[in-house]
Amino acid sequence: MARLVMKFGGTSVANMNRIRNVARHVKREVDAGFEVAVVVSAMSGKTNELVGWVEDASKLYDRSEYDAVVASGEQVTSGLLAIALQEIGIAARSWQGWQIPIETSDAHGSARIEAINGERIIEGFSRREVAVVAGFQGVHTASGRLTTLGRGSDTSAVAIAAAIHADQCDIYTDVDGVYTTDPRIVPKARRLDRVAFEEMLEMASLGAKVLQVRSVEVAMVHKVKTFVRSSLDDPSDPKPGTLICDEEDILEQQVVTGIAFSKDEAQITLRRVADKPGVAATIFGPLADANINVDMIIQVVSNDQKTTDLTFTVVTADFERAKSILEKHRNEIGFQDLQGATDVVKISAIGIGMRSHAGVAARAFKALADKGVNIRAITTSEIKFSVLIDKDYTELAVRTLHSLYGLDKA
Ligand code: ADP
Ligand code: MG
Repeated sequence: MARLVMKFGGTSVANMNRIRNVARHVKREVDAGFEVAVVVSAMSGKTNELVGWVEDASKLYDRSEYDAVVASGEQVTSGLLAIALQEIGIAARSWQGWQIPIETSDAHGSARIEAINGERIIEGFSRREVAVVAGFQGVHTASGRLTTLGRGSDTSAVAIAAAIHADQCDIYTDVDGVYTTDPRIVPKARRLDRVAFEEMLEMASLGAKVLQVRSVEVAMVHKVKTFVRSSLDDPSDPKPGTLICDEEDILEQQVVTGIAFSKDEAQITLRRVADKPGVAATIFGPLADANINVDMIIQVVSNDQKTTDLTFTVVTADFERAKSILEKHRNEIGFQDLQGATDVVKISAIGIGMRSHAGVAARAFKALADKGVNIRAITTSEIKFSVLIDKDYTELAVRTLHSLYGLDKA
């Protein structure tokens, strides 16, 4: 019998009516003959509320207890959906991460899935039972403690699909697929029928939050046939959504597939750094030791020709820590001034077609300049390029690039 994993995000289970609608989506697939495992998130807004309570309880809270609190949102929705399914005549059981078990590392708050035992879910299938699994949670077996995976349940869903050898994993959300850019920002964004794993991975890493980065990695490695589709649709009239697939399965390849943006970036500039060999190592070494990832880097020779200005970006969450580490190493590095900015955004264009086309990024630089948008930093790689600009120009820049590469819908 064919096996299916269906994942429903926070907005899809935001209240009892939505949960009942989800139950109807599940019933459709059960009636079609699938063995179904469902993965649910917490009701939208719930996890933030729980995190708020923990932060209120203590500034330096115990990470393990943080997980105990924030994992509770998924416990509620998994139970409610199991009841809603039973209510319409579908046998169903809820499962918490530790009951499966979904074994993870002990990195509380951002644990990594290490192993999933699919037996209990599969046993349930033999009783014709739908498994409703609480997403986002796992267990660290050695300590017996509950863990959470960082934001979202997409990764839980794809990993479970791989573990039970599902034929397909459907990620249901509040949009009907992956778009050329966030449809909330660009009304002219187009839904894509197919996106290659590699492109999706870049899009997610560069800010398109429709899928979690880790979930795309797992799907790519385990070749999980993954769709993104809408839960808000009428369950009796389902739409296919977007398939994430191998590059070879994309029929019509564009040069640029999508535009992503991330406001989660901060810029640091060190002025008048002594221009001597090894200086990059003295700057980036201590940051790497502190697990701070540095992204875009540009170096400009100062006016006096003897020193250099160095600009780079880190994620906003690491901004304060990065600044204080650099201040601490000020003498070794030998810079005169440190400037920081958080009013920046990174805009990226992604497409496997860039491999075989030259000058794709150059066109963007000109188009942005024509609109008066100043570029603070640039990075490029095989299938993407990114520019760092002032946050105020986010929409203008995204729309400009979206049109430039012919992505606007007719
Ligand atoms: P869920 O709670 O179901 O996991 P998310 O909020 O995590 O949903 O993801 C869905 C949202 O992702 C959409 O509402 C949309 O605004 C946003 N999004 C960003 N980029 C894209 C894109 N390229 N295509 C589709 N949605 C996108
Ligand atoms: Mg999500």
